[in-house]
This record gives sequence, C-alpha cells and structure tokens, in this order.
Amino acid sequence: MQVILAQPRGFCAGVTRAIDIVERALARHGAPVHVFHEIVHNQWVVDDLRSRGAVFVQALDAVPDHAVVVFSAHGVSRQVMNQAQARGLRTIDATCPLVSKVHQQAQRFVRQGRTLLMIGHAGHEEVVGTMGQVDAPVHLVSSIDDVQALALPVDAALAYVTQTTLSLDDTRAIIGALLARFPDIVGPEVDGICYATQNRQVAVRALAAQVDLVLVVGARNSSNSNRLREVAARAGVPAYLVQDEHEIDPAWLRTAPRVGVTSGASTPELLVQRVVAALGVLHPDPLTPVVQLPGVREDVSFRLPAELALP
Ligand code: SF4
Repeated sequence: MQVILAQPRGFCAGVTRAIDIVERALARHGAPVHVFHEIVHNQWVVDDLRSRGAVFVQALDAVPDHAVVVFSAHGVSRQVMNQAQARGLRTIDATCPLVSKVHQQAQRFVRQGRTLLMIGHAGHEEVVGTMGQVDAPVHLVSSIDDVQALALPVDAALAYVTQTTLSLDDTRAIIGALLARFPDIVGPEVDGICYATQNRQVAVRALAAQVDLVLVVGARNSSNSNRLREVAARAGVPAYLVQDEHEIDPAWLRTAPRVGVTSGASTPELLVQRVVAALGVLHPDPLTPVVQLPGVREDVSFRLPAELALP
C-alpha cells in the first residue's frame, strides 16, 4: 500500500496567525483569555488552547466585563465589535487579513451605492461576519438556484463578494449565472477565494488523479476541508473527511492500494501524521515509503496585531 500526500496541505497563514495570537495573548495577559467562537475550525486546536487557559464563548454575554477577548480568524460583524466596545472589553482581532480584505471590498461596494450579494454558505461564521460589516441589506447566494430566485430588477446596480473558502468551480459557475442575469454587476472574480483554498484544491485534484481513495483530514465544520473532499470526489475517487485516525473505516482500504491524504487549512500536521501511521496498521497490505507530491511552496505570512508583535 502506498500513501501519497498532497502539497500544500494543512495550516494556512491566517490559521497560524490566529493560533499565535491566542498563545501570545495567554502569555501576555495570563489565563483566562476569552475567544469569541472557535479560533479556527478544528477541535484538536481548540482543546489544546483550552487546556492552556483559553475560554471559547458563543456570545459576548459570556465574557466578564473588562476581560480580554480574541475575535476568531473568521471575523465578526460590526455589531459584535460595537458590543465589545460598549462592554469595555479588551479586544484582540485575529480575523485573517484576507477576510478583512473582503470586509473592505464589501464596504466599498456599498459606499458606491451598489446592492451587495454575498456568495457563501448560510450560517458560516465568516459569512455572518462579512454580511454584518455593512450597514445595508445583503443577499446571500449559495447556488445557481439562489441566483435565479433573487427578487432584484435585472438593471439593478449590484456587487458581489465571496466567502474565502469556497469551491473554485462552484463559485465560477455562480458568478457566471450572476453575470448572465444582471449586466450591471461588479466583483472580484474568484480572487475572494484565498490563496490557501485555491492551492489546496489544485493540489487535491492532482492527488486524486494518482490514487484510489482520498482522505481529507479536517473538522466537519471546516468549510475548506469539506470543499477538498468534494473536489476529490468530483475527480472520480471515493473521498472521505476524517477528523483523526479513529474515523478511518478499514472497509474503505480493502480496494485502495494507493491512498491519498490531504488536510484542511485549520488541521495540524500532527493529525495528518497520525492518520498516516494508522493507515500502516489498518491497511491489509504492507506500507511502502510515504510519497509527497510536488506542489506550490507557500511562503505567506501575516503580521501580528501591533500589541502582540513584540516578543
Ligand atoms: Fe485566511 Fe484563507 Fe486561511 Fe481562511 S483559509 S484563514 S482566508 S488564509
């Protein structure tokens, strides 16, 4: 049995920065440090930070007055920012700079007088945050059917922004449907989908072409991990999302001499290595040396908030 790893996979620059922010906030301010929502969508990461003093909350009401609170990598609405300020909370913003860029695009389009559409998944924290960054109604579009159902005049002045972790193919199709129905629409093409999402989708497609089965290591609520599984499945191989090695079903391996493994942008490499080790035990055939495909080498990094940048 051969295990082939996709490249790139795992942590992106926004996730690395967000985790670094919580760790530095703990070192600087001491425990507890409250974090609004999961800092990134991965249970292992959340549990690890919790064990070191992070307290994850779903609402600011759960944060004591004047406490330190970190906003997650997915970003928050203006309402949450205003509520934190009104409560006198000491906020540290771990919003990924690429999500902040989408916030700024959205605000610019609204200032231009355009009605804003958001291409994304209902209920995802990033989508809720971005839609809440503008003082105007925003129409959420998740599919081509949603485009056809939009109750807007065809000559309306529109603009769209996208969630950063969508499927490139699906988003292109939705943008195509928008352009076909609404001639006066502007937007950032698929550039709103971040570099890490794009690179991992290209890499998993290359991986799927060489294997009999793809395992994506990632959390069930991780948007980009789910998209990786979809891209692999659409390439024609069975593909499963597993949170860790315990979720591998040995039955998947019986007819899969070549197993491809990748991971979402919020998945620690440690979990990938545990999955690879488990494959060596669970697979009916002996494991040959693990191979990693060539792929884009990412050298992106984002600056920390000034208050945490100094050692
Ligand atoms: Fe930022 Fe992209 Fe990573 Fe999300 S997936 S945190 S947008 S780099």
